[in-house]
Amino acid sequence: MIVGILGAGQLARMIALAGYPLGVEFIFLDPSADACANRLGTHLLGDYNDPRLLAELAERADVVTYEFENVPADVAEFLASHTQVHPAPKALAVAQDRLVEKGFFNSLDIPTPAYAAVDSLADLQQAMPTIGWPAILKSRTMGYDGKGQSLLKSADDLATAWDLLAGAPAIVEAFVPFGREVSIIAARSVSGETVFYPLSENRHRGGILRVSESRAGDPMQAQAEAYISKLMVALDYVGVLALELFEIDGRLIANEFAPRVHNSGHWTIEGAETSQFENHLRAILAMPLGATSAVGKAAMVNFIGGLPVTEDLLAIPHAHLHLYDKAPRKGRKVAHATLRTETAAQLAGLVQQLEALADAVDDS
Ligand code: AMP
Repeated sequence: MIVGILGAGQLARMIALAGYPLGVEFIFLDPSADACANRLGTHLLGDYNDPRLLAELAERADVVTYEFENVPADVAEFLASHTQVHPAPKALAVAQDRLVEKGFFNSLDIPTPAYAAVDSLADLQQAMPTIGWPAILKSRTMGYDGKGQSLLKSADDLATAWDLLAGAPAIVEAFVPFGREVSIIAARSVSGETVFYPLSENRHRGGILRVSESRAGDPMQAQAEAYISKLMVALDYVGVLALELFEIDGRLIANEFAPRVHNSGHWTIEGAETSQFENHLRAILAMPLGATSAVGKAAMVNFIGGLPVTEDLLAIPHAHLHLYDKAPRKGRKVAHATLRTETAAQLAGLVQQLEALADAVDDS
């Protein structure tokens, strides 16, 4: 079996690492010569919309998937008309545009923060009395890790925030004073069989994910599963999907979804019976899905912009290092480490040690 992946970054790399034991081979399309998955399969080097390379990818791969959601719609459609593509291009179209995504959530009765479309400064000024303060202005497309976002605290912030977007279509949404952020990851197979991972509890810094912890038995699990099930059924989804949520006063509010494997699920490599990467492959290759149950208590810490000394990290009990083979650069995720322990008490102290190592090299 050959799986084609659009993108050859760390998510593609971890999918490939999960695929080799299943006898799967990989072919990546990525415009960067030093993309970090490129030594784990065939690398087609070029633009995502290069017709010759897309034709080659469709020809050689049994199924095509992607590691990021900003794949141009016509590229996904072209591939889908020549080979199997999972998840289907519709999931990309919804996830690419925050306004469409919020409307989609609401059409499924999945709550979101109050929001309004913003195409001009006048739109923004008009929306604020309804949205309320504080609020966040976000570009509708191409936003991730907090990029293209501004916090609006008063009317004085509006013009600067709008100017920063340089005319890009935007969305303004109410700031949610959440108690915590969680995400749910699920995998759905071609036959509609669906499995859910225990919730991840996530902490961000500067809009970038810093720490995720597995939360088996979390009281919000059932609500999160109900929401992600609705999304997967409505999108006729095949593969792994991640839904990011805010929890406030025992209620979940949707932030966004990612039609792919997700950073908040990296702990599943050591902390679940089957990792999100393996289950993504099993789903898109029509194989039976693997059990998602937690193995012990797990947490993941991202290394952003700098790498720890390997020996220092491995000296932390129960720590597992995942280097992405990427040159450190400001704001760039270059590695993560997972901890897996028997008890929550054991985990807490070790997470602190791991975060201290990450803080020492972090330049984000
Ligand atoms: P996003 O790129 O939309 O996932 O936003 C990145 C991070 O910014 C989120 O994980 C939250 O920590 C924060 N954030 C985004 N939108 C909101 C909101 N409406 N209310 C509060 N925090 C938010």
